[in-house]
Amino acid sequence: MRTIYLFDVDGTLTPPKQKAVEIFRLQFFEWTKDKEVYLVSGGSFKRLTEQLSPAVMDRIEGVFACMGNVYYRRKKGEPRAWFHEYEHKFRPNKGLIADLTKEVEKSAYPTKTGAHYDNRTGMINFSIVGTKATQDQRREYAAYDAEHKEREAIVARLSEKHASCDFVIGGAVSIDIFTKGRDKSQVIREHFKDLPQDAIIHFVGDRTEYPGNDFAIAEAVRNRGNGHVHSVESWKDTAELLKSI
Ligand SMILES: [Mg+2]
Repeated sequence: MRTIYLFDVDGTLTPPKQKAVEIFRLQFFEWTKDKEVYLVSGGSFKRLTEQLSPAVMDRIEGVFACMGNVYYRRKKGEPRAWFHEYEHKFRPNKGLIADLTKEVEKSAYPTKTGAHYDNRTGMINFSIVGTKATQDQRREYAAYDAEHKEREAIVARLSEKHASCDFVIGGAVSIDIFTKGRDKSQVIREHFKDLPQDAIIHFVGDRTEYPGNDFAIAEAVRNRGNGHVHSVESWKDTAELLKSI
């Protein structure tokens, strides 16, 4: 029987936006042997390779980058070689960009480092603290957001105004924005639609609750027979989980 394993990366296999911790990287490398493993991330292929190492990537069957809007399939028997299979673009309208700029201006948070939105394939990654923030500045914003729930309020405001888009809280400081449905759930709905009914799917992620960026795929996996969702808080939980799945 076929069993496939899907992993979120930031907060699940690595600390957010950082390299995998060496001891876990080795454990994960060993664990993936003879398993069918895919990555499903908001990050780019290049960043994921930097986080996990080329050796780990050689154990991965396919990489759904940018929330599943870009797919890379590994070439069999050829290390470090991948097919770039497809990509879905997202062109935000001017109103949305103007509203993101307004959110940055009106936020009471004092540290704004610039470059507040990053237009990636199929999505925009938006943050009040900005993409130039240092790790310390990111941590400070994450603590502020945990207390003030700023990202939840922004998501609520923008969702109401821009009904054709989805807004989800991703990573430690940002919000991911994309065309409705073009989130991680498209991996199950489209890519794995012909998977045999008895095939088992495991999904492991750290943001499986609404409005987290793993919520949609977690729902899609749960709604399928033989789907298992594992919610973790960090790579340490994942390290424990790998001993039993
Ligand atoms: Mg995550």
